[in-house]
Amino acid sequence: MTELLDLAKKDGRWSECPSCSEIIITTKLKENLWVCSHCNHHFRINAKERIALLCDQEGFIGLDLTGQTVHQGGVPPEDSIRAGEATIDGQKCILAVMDFTFKGGSMGVYLGNAVVRVFHYAQEMKVPLVFFTASGGVRIQEGIWGLLQMIRTVHARTATEKIPMITVFTDPTTGGVSASFASLADILLAEPGARIGFAGPRVIEATTQVTLPPGFQEARTLLAHGFLDRIVSRHELRSTLSSFLRWF
Ligand SMILES: [Zn+2]
Repeated sequence: MTELLDLAKKDGRWSECPSCSEIIITTKLKENLWVCSHCNHHFRINAKERIALLCDQEGFIGLDLTGQTVHQGGVPPEDSIRAGEATIDGQKCILAVMDFTFKGGSMGVYLGNAVVRVFHYAQEMKVPLVFFTASGGVRIQEGIWGLLQMIRTVHARTATEKIPMITVFTDPTTGGVSASFASLADILLAEPGARIGFAGPRVIEATTQVTLPPGFQEARTLLAHGFLDRIVSRHELRSTLSSFLRWF
């Protein structure tokens, strides 16, 4: 039986919830927006899936994030962000979604450029910006160039501060992304269970020699301490975002 389960998990027909270990049929999980029906664990999803479940039918037109009109092979390079003009429950916005499945959603020069362009697109089009973040932080392989993206993105946000911005923190958003543009939105939302922080708990414990309290860096703790405005279930994201977008 265990071997059968392993086989079914391997070919993707069944998925195991990392929180409650329940084995779920993947199509059922997908129908439930990748949320475990037993414990409400929100599975991590990639940018493509996120856009599909958020936007209206044909409500997403991709933006050029490279600054080049013609890409090699006609497709933009893969990276940890996708963005476009979007319609969410009838409300227009610029939607940018980070992708943790691509190199841990790390922020390198490409992502920095893309974030700056996203801010400028929103300003040019005079529409609010909705940013879904998922990142392990700065792409450290790019050294100082990676770190510089924190300053660049903060500067771009400051220069376009009149554009309403909503950040939705998804699991996990840490390091240089949480510590730069992501936290500079007008409304800060998070998915249930999302980890949001700067350094990881193990690093903090090793450095400070202090045992961290339960729930450290979890969305509910950050909400209780006033960092977040609301925690929104994936099933209510479309309606919540569109009601906020109506304000602007
Ligand atoms: Zn579960």
